[in-house]
Amino acid sequence: MVGGGPAGLTFARVLHRHDHPVTILERDSAPDARPPGGTLDLHDQLGQLALDKAGLLAEYHALSRPEGQAMRILDTDGTVLRDWRPRPDERANPEIDRGQLRDLLLGPMDVQWGRGVTEVVPGTRDGVLVRFADGREETFDLVVGADGAWSRVRPALSSATPHYTGVTYVETSLDDVDTRHPDLARLIGDGSMAVYGVNRALVAQRNSGGHVKVYAQFRAPLDWHTNPDRHLGLNGRAGQDAGTGTGRDVGTGVGTGRDTGMDDSMDASTDAGLDLGDVEAVRSSLLALFDGWAAPVLDLLCHGTAFAHRPLYVLPASHTWTHVPGVTLLGDAAHLMPPLGVGANLGMLEGAELAESVVAASSPGDLDKAVHAFEEQMWARASNRAKFTMAGLDRLVSPDPAQAIALFDEVQS
Ligand SMILES: Cc1cc2nc3c(=O)[nH]c(=O)nc-3n(C[C@H](O)[C@H](O)[C@H](O)COP(=O)(O)OP(=O)(O)OC[C@H]3O[C@@H](n4cnc5c(N)ncnc54)[C@H](O)[C@@H]3O)c2cc1C
Repeated sequence: MVGGGPAGLTFARVLHRHDHPVTILERDSAPDARPPGGTLDLHDQLGQLALDKAGLLAEYHALSRPEGQAMRILDTDGTVLRDWRPRPDERANPEIDRGQLRDLLLGPMDVQWGRGVTEVVPGTRDGVLVRFADGREETFDLVVGADGAWSRVRPALSSATPHYTGVTYVETSLDDVDTRHPDLARLIGDGSMAVYGVNRALVAQRNSGGHVKVYAQFRAPLDWHTNPDRHLGLNGRAGQDAGTGTGRDVGTGVGTGRDTGMDDSMDASTDAGLDLGDVEAVRSSLLALFDGWAAPVLDLLCHGTAFAHRPLYVLPASHTWTHVPGVTLLGDAAHLMPPLGVGANLGMLEGAELAESVVAASSPGDLDKAVHAFEEQMWARASNRAKFTMAGLDRLVSPDPAQAIALFDEVQS
C-alpha cells in the first residue's frame, strides 16, 4: 500500500484487524514530518462506517468534537444570517483533527517511513514492480495507490492528471483563540463560520485546543500572485480570467499547495508580483481583496504568522481506467474532488471495503475479481460525489453569494 493518508491507513488498519499482511510505504520521513493539516468531519455513512470496520468507532467518538458540527454564516457586514447548532446527541458528522485521526489509525501498525515511490510497473515476471526515490526496487502481488492528488501509482493505470478548478485557498491559523482572541472565538462559535461575497469567501474552522484554521477562498488564475491587482480585482471582478479547468495549468504547481491541503507554508516566490513568502505582503493583498467587509470579520486575517497557498485541483469527475491486475487506486489518487467534506470520508470507506474484499478472497483469481468489482463500485459512488462537490464549489465561490447560503439551506435541512 502506497501512502499513509486517511484512505491508505484505513485500508491497512482493516487488514491488520484481520491479521492480513500489508506493507505500508509512506514518503514522509516520520508521522510528524509536517503539520497534519486541519479538521475533518467524518460522516456516519462513510468515514464512521469505515472506522467501525476497523474496530475504532468508539475511540473516534471519544476523541471527536460533536459540537464542531455547528455552522454559522455571516453577511459581509458581520450580521449573522444562519446559526446552526447540533443537538447534544447529534453524531452525524463530528469533527476530528487530522493528526488525531492519523494516530488513531496508525495504532500498532508498522509503517515504512521515508519510502517515496516514483513508479509502479505492473505485469513483471515477479509481480508488480515498485521503484523508490532512493533507487531501490521491490515487487508485490497487489499495489494499492493511496498516494493522494499527485499519485505516482496512478500513471500505471491512467493518463489522467489533476486540473486547476479556478479557485484558490490561502490558509492561515490562530492559536489559543479563546484566550488570545476572545472576540473572534465568539464570532466563530463552536464549529465553523463562513462569510460569502462575490467570487470570494472567508471561512474559519475550529480544531481542538483552541486552534482555528482560516481559509480565504477566491476565484483567480493560478498565477494570481504575479499580478494580484489585475487578477483579483478589488471591485467584485475577482476571477473573471480564472483558469478554465481544461488542464492547461497542470504541473505548474505554483507555491507548495499542490497536494490540496497537505502543505503548510507558502514558497518564497521570485515572481515580480506578490512574494508568497512575505507574510505581511500576503496579508495586505488579502485585506485588499476583502476590502469593505466588516472589521470583526477581517480580523480573522490579521493575526496569522504564516499563509499557505492552496490552489484547488480536481481529477475528471468520471475518472475510470481499464482494470490492470495487481494495481488499484483509492482516495484522492482515484478521485480528487473539491474539499466539500467528502474526500477523506470516501477514501476511508473505500479503504475499509477493499481490505474486506482482500481478506475474503481465497485465491489470486478471486482477489483480482474482487479488486475489479471494488473499482466499479468506487467509480460509480465517487463520480456522483465529484459532480456534487464541483457544483457545490461553483455555488460557494460564486458571483452570487446567495447561492452559497441556498446550498447550505439545502444541505442542512
Ligand atoms: C482545506 C481542505 C479541507 C478538507 N476537509 C475535508 C473534510 O472535512 N472531510 C473530508 O472528507 N475531506 C476533506 N478534505 C479532503 C481530504 O483532505 C482528502 O480527500 C483526503 O486527505 C484524501 O485522503 P488520501 O488518503 O486519499 O490522500 P492524502 O491525504 O493526500 O494522503 C496521501 C498520502 O500519500 C503520501 N504520498 C504521496 N506521494 C507518495 C509517494 N510517491 N510515495 C509514498 N507516499 C506518498 C503522502 O505523504 C500522504 O501521506 C479537505 C481538503 C482540504 C484541502
